[in-house]
Amino acid sequence: MEINQSKQISVGMLSLGCPKTLVDSELILGFLEPSRFRVAKHITDCDIAILNTCAFIQDAKEESIDHILKLVELKEAGQIKAIIVLGCLVQRYHSELQDELSEIDAFLGTADYEQINEVLNRVIAKKTFSQVTAKPGFLYTSKMNRIPLTPFFSRYLKISEGCDHVCSFCTIPKFRGKHRSRLIEDIVTEARGLIASGTKELILTGQDTTFFGRDTHHTYLLAKLLGELDSLNGLEWIRLLYAYPSCVTRELIHAIRDLKRVCHYLDMPLQHVSDSMLQAMKRGTTKKTSYELIRRLRQEIPDLAIRTTFIVGFPGETDDDFKELLDFMEYARFERLGVFMYSQEEESASSALPNQVKHSIKEKRFDKAMMCQQAISFENNNRLIGKKLQVLIERQSDSDPNLFEGRSYMDAPEVDGVIYVQTFTQKKPRPGDFVSVQVTGTRDYDLVGLCTESEMISSHVS
Ligand code: SF4
Repeated sequence: MEINQSKQISVGMLSLGCPKTLVDSELILGFLEPSRFRVAKHITDCDIAILNTCAFIQDAKEESIDHILKLVELKEAGQIKAIIVLGCLVQRYHSELQDELSEIDAFLGTADYEQINEVLNRVIAKKTFSQVTAKPGFLYTSKMNRIPLTPFFSRYLKISEGCDHVCSFCTIPKFRGKHRSRLIEDIVTEARGLIASGTKELILTGQDTTFFGRDTHHTYLLAKLLGELDSLNGLEWIRLLYAYPSCVTRELIHAIRDLKRVCHYLDMPLQHVSDSMLQAMKRGTTKKTSYELIRRLRQEIPDLAIRTTFIVGFPGETDDDFKELLDFMEYARFERLGVFMYSQEEESASSALPNQVKHSIKEKRFDKAMMCQQAISFENNNRLIGKKLQVLIERQSDSDPNLFEGRSYMDAPEVDGVIYVQTFTQKKPRPGDFVSVQVTGTRDYDLVGLCTESEMISSHVS
C-alpha cells in the first residue's frame, strides 16, 4: 500500500521492556527529520509503526512476538502501511526473524538507531532493510534530541550502556556490549535541559548504574555523579535504578543518605542469597556479603525503600536453597520485590547447567515467595498509616475530581505501587505537583492518603 508523501508521514512507536529501551525509543523519535515525519499518538494509528522489542527472558520474547503479529494484522487490514522492528529481540534473533517474518519491512539492531531516517525512506520506497551491527557500541550524548514518552515531570536518564558482569543466566552483555559510561559533564548538561523543560524527577538507569566510571576512570564515580546532579536547582528527586550489589560502595551509601534530592530508594537486584546459587549465577556476592549489605543499608538509612528481584528455580536450586531465600526475605523485609521464574535462555552459560528445575516446582516456589512478600508488604504498608509522605501527583481520576494518583519516594514508575490521594481543597494539584499526604490506609500493594489545604506545597500548586 502506497504512503502519501505529500503530507508529513506519521510514525508510531511502541516501546516494550525496560526504561533503558524506553530511552532508546525516545532517541529514535528524536532522530526523525521533523520536516518529513511526525510522531503519531498511537502505534495503531500511523503510516509506519516502529516496535522497539525486548528479549530479556522467555515472557518478554513472547510479548514482543505477540506485538509483532498484531502489527502484521493491522498492516494486512490496511490500517498501517509499514512495520519496522528493532531493539534487543532483533539484535539477538536477527536471522530467525528475517526468515520467519516476511511481512516486516525493516529490522534494525541496537547499535543502528541513528540510521532511522534512511530506513524510513527505504521503507517508503517499498524496499526492505535489515541491519544488525554485531558489536553494539552506541552511546548517546546530550546533543541528541529525545522526544519524551514519559510525563514531562519524570524522565529517565541513561548514564551508561552495556554490562561487564558475567551473570550466568543473562545474555544481555552479548547483545548490548561491554559497559560504556557517559561523561559526567554530558549527563549534567542533559539533566539541565530536562529540568528547564519541567522535569522534577530524574531516574538514573543503565544495565548496571553502580559500575559507572569504572571503564573510563577505573573507579566508581556514581556517588560523584549524584553529587553533581544534586546541586541542580529545580530538581526535586533523583532516583537510582539497577544497582549491582557488589558495586554498592560506602561512598554511594553516604551519597544516598546525605544528598537532599536523592531519594532514599535503591533498586538493587540480588537474584538469590544461598552461596551455591550465587556462585552458580556468577554474581560475585555471597550470603554473608548480602546480609551484611542489607544490615549496613538499614543502619545507615533507616527509611530506605529497597527494591530487589529474585530468581526462583535456577538450575540446581534445592529446597534448602529456596528456604534460605525465604529466610533472607523475612530478614531484609524488602519494601518492593519482584520474583521471576528462571528462564532457560539459549546462549546463556546457565542453560547448559545440569539439574534444571521442573516448571511445576518453579511455579510452587514462585507462589510461596510471593505469599511471603505479600505479608511483608502489608506489614510495611500498615506501618506507614498516620505518617506524612511527599507525593508527586501523576494524574487526576477520570471519575472523581477529588481523587488523584501519585508516587512517594518509595515508588518508581511502572514497577512499584502508587498512592491514591483524596483532596477536598479548592485548588487542585496538577500532574507534576508535589503535595504532602497523610497516609490513611492501604489498598493491596498501594497506599491511600489525604491532602488538606495546609498540606499543599504551594510553590508547585496553581
Ligand atoms: S548485571 Fe548481570 S543480570 Fe544485569 S545485565 Fe549485567 S550480566 Fe545481565
